[in-house]
Amino acid sequence: MSRKEIHDEALTREIASHYREILRLIGEDPNREGLLKTPERAAKALIDITAGYRQDPLAIAQKAIFEHAGSRIVIVKDIEFYSMCEHHILPFFGTVSIGYIPKGKMIGLSKLARIVDNFARRLQVQERLTSQICSLLDSALPNEGVIVSCRAEHLCMKMRGVEKQNSDTVTFDYCGRFADDPKLRDEFMRLCAL
Ligand SMILES: [Zn+2]
Repeated sequence: MSRKEIHDEALTREIASHYREILRLIGEDPNREGLLKTPERAAKALIDITAGYRQDPLAIAQKAIFEHAGSRIVIVKDIEFYSMCEHHILPFFGTVSIGYIPKGKMIGLSKLARIVDNFARRLQVQERLTSQICSLLDSALPNEGVIVSCRAEHLCMKMRGVEKQNSDTVTFDYCGRFADDPKLRDEFMRLCAL
């Protein structure tokens, strides 16, 4: 077994012991048959959906930076993500769209999805998720501007009935020429809507 596997097993065991206690506290019987393996399964799921803490998004991005002569806006839209709100530890999920204006370099498209995934797999708020993606790309990739939009639904609002059931939350962040020029932001929005 590798060191990482030993560490993961110890971590799973420890988180599972807390889940067993939580089951008892909410009035369940952790020893009834249907729940016997639940703490361990829940622990593994939690480790998986918070895997972003244990990877380096900058290293992921820098593995796929290529020469590129073009200067037109590049857009990857509707990258699906699943995250957990840090206030209630309940899921929020939706899509992220990313645009950038190249400056001699481009980034492999699949890496954009991995960067989104990295920041989503943590306890998050949607605003920070959006700006972390934006500033990571800004530092990993030479560019004239980066823009990120994020649309999500939050189960902490929907399940608890806090907001209208059909409302989505939209957040933006941008830098470089997107910050200076509202027309460029409009172009991004228009291309995203295609
Ligand atoms: Zn919440």
